[in-house]
Amino acid sequence: MPELAGERIYKGIPVSAGVCRGKILVLGKTELSIPHFKISEDQIPQQIKRLEQAIIETRKQLLDVQHKVNEGLGAEDASIFDAHLLVLEDRTLLDEVIRLIHKDKVNVEFAFHEVAERYAKALGAIDDDYLRERATDMRDVTSRILNNLIGRIPPIDLAKLSEPCIIISEDLAPSATALLDKKMVLGFATDVGSKTSHTAIMARSLEIPAVVGLQRASHELETGEYALLDGYNGQIVVNPTDQTLFEYGQLVRKQVNLQEKLRDVQSQPAVTLDGVRVTLSANIEQADDADSVKSFGAEGVGLFRTEYLFINRTVLPNEEEQYVAYRQIAAALKPQPVIIRTLDLGGDKFLSHLQVPQEMNPFLGWRAIRLCLEEKEIFRDQLRAILRASVEGNIKVMYPMVSCLQELEQANALVEQCKDELRAENIPFSNDLEIGVMVEIPSAALAANALAKRVKFFSIGTNDLIQYTLAVDRLNERIAHLYEPTHPAIVSLIKMTVDAAHRNGIWVGVCGEMAGDPVLAPLLLGLGVDELSVAPPLVPSIKFLIRRLKMEEAKKLADFALNCESGGEILKRAQALAKDIAPSLFENKV
Ligand code: PEP
Ligand code: MG
Repeated sequence: MPELAGERIYKGIPVSAGVCRGKILVLGKTELSIPHFKISEDQIPQQIKRLEQAIIETRKQLLDVQHKVNEGLGAEDASIFDAHLLVLEDRTLLDEVIRLIHKDKVNVEFAFHEVAERYAKALGAIDDDYLRERATDMRDVTSRILNNLIGRIPPIDLAKLSEPCIIISEDLAPSATALLDKKMVLGFATDVGSKTSHTAIMARSLEIPAVVGLQRASHELETGEYALLDGYNGQIVVNPTDQTLFEYGQLVRKQVNLQEKLRDVQSQPAVTLDGVRVTLSANIEQADDADSVKSFGAEGVGLFRTEYLFINRTVLPNEEEQYVAYRQIAAALKPQPVIIRTLDLGGDKFLSHLQVPQEMNPFLGWRAIRLCLEEKEIFRDQLRAILRASVEGNIKVMYPMVSCLQELEQANALVEQCKDELRAENIPFSNDLEIGVMVEIPSAALAANALAKRVKFFSIGTNDLIQYTLAVDRLNERIAHLYEPTHPAIVSLIKMTVDAAHRNGIWVGVCGEMAGDPVLAPLLLGLGVDELSVAPPLVPSIKFLIRRLKMEEAKKLADFALNCESGGEILKRAQALAKDIAPSLFENKV
């Protein structure tokens, strides 16, 4: 689409489908810009009064901080603030500000900033440690006074927005995304991120159109500007022209038609044209997602990301609360299976109240099963809750981020210990609870044969498998072009995992985002994957595609991929097949 006068286009990475239009709300612009304007003679007293009020307010705040420090740390630390309070008594500084307001007829914020900066610079330039420190005190106090003069911008509560808007932000944590109010957030866009960040995954689950990797958009866009966000093609159009709006109107109409077609297959089975039945299940983040699992036509849950029960709260959920949540979803979907993944904290998902130390490489760090095997009390509560809920009969459990046999064995030992406890307490559980592992670390794929002998199923987490195999951070937009699901190494690892599973008589699913991509799903099926688990809103299009696919064609594609040395060539072939059998899924260009 050509760029038109008045219209500005920002291009990023599409992560959640849909088009929306509305006013922009830019989050996190915290730097204070100092207002500068001329005033008339009769406005001078009012400006001086504002200065006096800001000084009173600042004194109150400093005394309050001093009081708290005194209580918490003692009188010696609290005395630091005496120097700050002295700055407020400095008549020379204040007289200088008042003189400037009279002389230049400027507003008080500007005059104050000019004089304070001059003082701090002069003090800082003197070769004397004591005076240099006074310059720091001075800056500290003067920035407080300026904050009081300008008025602090209150932080925006994303759960309580007063009008519908498109959120623009440098970044958005998965925990913040989970709180977005769908009625108020039309869509969102971030400077950083990529397709498999948990923020992007959450946006797809919530069906909020989203674009990430826009690089500098949050610095260049202004709150209040009118824009269109295109989650299909990954762009934001600011001040869209009538022509652009018309083109997008047509795109939305095509999508409405497609949704009608997809509704027709929702209650049909996921079976290929040549009669191969595929299990198509859903990835969920909350226990109350059961309705969307059913309404989109999924067959149970292939991945329940339980960590979302733990974030956005001040205390950890106890065993009882987790038990109620797991049992609720299992009961709602019975007899279809619900695979509960044990806690996968770390990486980009953190708890504010669990003291997880800052790490250089959080995705390679204290995450998931590694964290659970050390924080045994947390893990034990979760395992007991899952075991108790397993009386429903349809629950399975799987461990994330297993890298070696020992982790599986240690986790299983803890399950056995929990079973013994429950038996001793006469609390019922299902002794047949099936345990599987996620294969999402290359070492697990390479050791799949040994793992397969000890579990009932595999679920391949391609989001992590790709990032660890290719050494490409799944959050980093700068290297997103290197994050290549069709890389021959990925194809080989998936094949190796599938073969090991089948050799040992167990089934294998894929719950990473690859499974929900209509271009890549046939490749996975051709490689022998038995189950695909995708975000609920993606279930209908993947089912639509499967019902137009012949397994024979999928196998041919997989054979080609296994013998091809280029990820680009494999992708081209996969695109050609998907577009050939289900062209309507790809009519989303403008
Ligand atoms: C994966 O890694 O593919 C996966 C499904 O787990 P998550 O995205 O939660 O890391
Ligand atoms: Mg993972």
